[in-house]
Amino acid sequence: MESWNEKCAVVGVFNSERSAALCYYSLFAMQHRGQESSGISTSNGCDISTIKGEGLVTSVFKNGIENLVGKASIGHNRYSTAGEDSKCDVQPISARYSLGQIAIAHNGNLVNAKELRDNLISKGAIFQSYLDTENLIHLIAQSKAAKLKDRIIEALGIIKGAYSFVFLSRGKLFAIRDPFGFRPLSLGEIINDDGSKGYIVASETCAFDLINAKYIRDINPGEMLIFSIKDNEVLIDSIEVFKQEPKKCIFEFVYFSRPDSFVFNKCVYEVRKNMGIELAKEYKIKADLVIPVPDSGVISAIGYSQESKIPFELGIVRNHYIGRTFIEPTQSMRELKVKLKLNPIKEIIQNKDIIVIDDSIVRGTTSKQIISILRKVGAKKIHLIIASPQTISPCYYGVDTPNTSELISSKKNIEEVREFIDADSLYFLSLEGLYKSIGDEAKNGIGYCKACFDKEYVI
Ligand code: AMP
Repeated sequence: MESWNEKCAVVGVFNSERSAALCYYSLFAMQHRGQESSGISTSNGCDISTIKGEGLVTSVFKNGIENLVGKASIGHNRYSTAGEDSKCDVQPISARYSLGQIAIAHNGNLVNAKELRDNLISKGAIFQSYLDTENLIHLIAQSKAAKLKDRIIEALGIIKGAYSFVFLSRGKLFAIRDPFGFRPLSLGEIINDDGSKGYIVASETCAFDLINAKYIRDINPGEMLIFSIKDNEVLIDSIEVFKQEPKKCIFEFVYFSRPDSFVFNKCVYEVRKNMGIELAKEYKIKADLVIPVPDSGVISAIGYSQESKIPFELGIVRNHYIGRTFIEPTQSMRELKVKLKLNPIKEIIQNKDIIVIDDSIVRGTTSKQIISILRKVGAKKIHLIIASPQTISPCYYGVDTPNTSELISSKKNIEEVREFIDADSLYFLSLEGLYKSIGDEAKNGIGYCKACFDKEYVI
């Protein structure tokens, strides 16, 4: 049941003849949010068709995207999880029910998915996947409400957790963010070739840049947008389904989002650079060079180098033709992947005192391996600086973190972690430093979920 972890990308495009192609490019831009599988569902007004499969966006849609004809589409990239028959778990998922046809894509994680599923199964429902998203299809199908909108609202009242959903019916597109707004979801505008307006919703705004869409705003926590056509114009209805204090995922800034995205209305690049600046204010270390772990530590390392005036060098080179190390299910494969991915440059590192910057330590495997390869090429001293606080607690709201026992900082203090990874010194950004990096609005972390760092779970 580990597959109830969805840390993915969603996209929806409404009122464009090229809706499937625009979804495709958006999913391509958001490939970093999930590499296991991908899918697009398109409505031509009468019927919804889906193409989906395992693999990267470019391979899933190698043949056939031109068969997805229609002016509304939704799409999904799925992040991998360990040891599942994931063929059934590829999204979007679609179904026929009493009101017609529906397709859904979900980024997030429902905390009451098992309870809901057991309850639905006891009433005779048959599930085809391990996806918590499938609960929603059943709740909508079983509702007695006359309109899909009301069925969705009813289902949202039953599910609990983190979600950014896109729903496609034959004539409408629905985009919804959970009451706490854990996962991001932004709205953009498209100008079609004939001058008409279309719209896009996507997990990250880097998708908008690729297709020349204009960012309009974030969808609010607890808000549902309904896109429909009236008199040849797009109508957008906004419904405030829930109203409460947001708890946006602070880890989006640390690791998950692309630096060229605007997430929660902030430029991720600027936030990450500020983290490096804050680190340089918190920890004044004597060293010859600042070296990032590519790509996750690069921007914070630029900030650290500029603030500390210690020269920046790209002393570790990354092989880009390999996925994220976290993805592999076994420990030995993870270790091999670090070596396959990162190669230090001896001529830069040898006999130097270096500050190495990375975004986070989860299990500690990556840092230990990196320090070992840096020692092998002759680094004199290695100070590891992490651009986030210690990850002490798992995420139940859609970020793939292992359980508590595998999180190194949950059982070891900083000195013990330092010893394990074999660094000369080890430092983490303080929570206050992280709030400062995000900006004034985030003073004391109000408005953000940071349970991975402080164990304060909101649901
Ligand atoms: P570890 O070897 O488990 O300590 O992995 C830490 C590295 O994994 C960090 O440097 C991040 O770049 C990356 N990372 C952190 N969180 C995640 C996540 N949720 N999914 C994938 N990779 C992650």
